[in-house]
Amino acid sequence: MAAWDDVLPWIFCIEQIVEDGDERLGINFCDHRNRFVLAEHDGDGVCLVHVGGCMGTCGRNRNSNRIHSARCCDDGCAPIDESQFLNDAMQTTMQIPLTHRSVLALFAHPDDIEFVAAGTLLLLQDLGWQIHYCNIADGCCGSTTTNRLETAQIRLKESRRSANLLGATFYQPICHDLDVFYNAANLAKIASIVRQSQPSILLTHAPSDYMEDHMQACRLAVTAAFARSIPNFATDPPAASFEGELAIYHAQPHGNRTPLGDLVYPQIYVATDSVIERKRQLLECHQSQQQWLQSTQKLNSYLQTMLDLGREVAELSGHECEFAEGWRRHLHFGFGGPNFDPLSEALGHLTFKP
Ligand SMILES: [Zn+2]
Repeated sequence: MAAWDDVLPWIFCIEQIVEDGDERLGINFCDHRNRFVLAEHDGDGVCLVHVGGCMGTCGRNRNSNRIHSARCCDDGCAPIDESQFLNDAMQTTMQIPLTHRSVLALFAHPDDIEFVAAGTLLLLQDLGWQIHYCNIADGCCGSTTTNRLETAQIRLKESRRSANLLGATFYQPICHDLDVFYNAANLAKIASIVRQSQPSILLTHAPSDYMEDHMQACRLAVTAAFARSIPNFATDPPAASFEGELAIYHAQPHGNRTPLGDLVYPQIYVATDSVIERKRQLLECHQSQQQWLQSTQKLNSYLQTMLDLGREVAELSGHECEFAEGWRRHLHFGFGGPNFDPLSEALGHLTFKP
């Protein structure tokens, strides 16, 4: 007789709970072999039905009738204890220890996170991850109408509002716009933020991007992550070094292209359809930028640009999502094992690899 204890080790991530009025009919989930599974209520108890599909497609197979094999617990079913099941399932979902479910977004300017990373952060947040949010520069150059100090103050407020909506821990910028240099002072500050947030996932810019602040931010982030476990490297302010695997993921460069105009193909696509409205609201917090980008960079609609870029990434993925964010994992040397890929693991059912 199958019991829920036999079922739990199968579960990687719950996809959908199927209900008819108050009656719970089943739970769709991904198993650890990337198969899509339906646990179905069968009168007196629960049976497993394989629905099929791989992790990359299960998100859209939820209504599919491609049943690969029939029930695997023919000999009887155990009654559902739903609250216990969900509780245990969530525990089982995460292969990463609770203390390391921490993600740090380290980007150059206020609004960079909202353009290329906020969808992924929202999805991780929904799974119970701690979100840490840092714009390295203060955004002081992002206006033609207010001075540096006023502009930085306005943008600090806008960023804090977005970080609050995201439920993120906010870190103060460490320098001015166009002062994002790879130097010892900046590195000591960024390394302190890495140590304070103790991430297992670090999200940052692409190594090759349209402007220098982004590329310097990326270099600072990578070395700061490398220095996380080196006690003889002093940070500013001082923060204790920590051991632990960490994976760095590089976002899409602005415009999804290198500075020379070549299209950049991600290694990992994250479907962001389910959070796109919330992502739009986060970008909307940066109201001052709507006017600035219109006048200086001819971005007709700030919000529309973000949506268009997300649509282009979705098209590159070749999957049936409307919006996506793209990531490339930094080589693992100095950071973790060769297969340490916590982003794909955590968001398994929403990620696609070409
Ligand atoms: Zn930027």
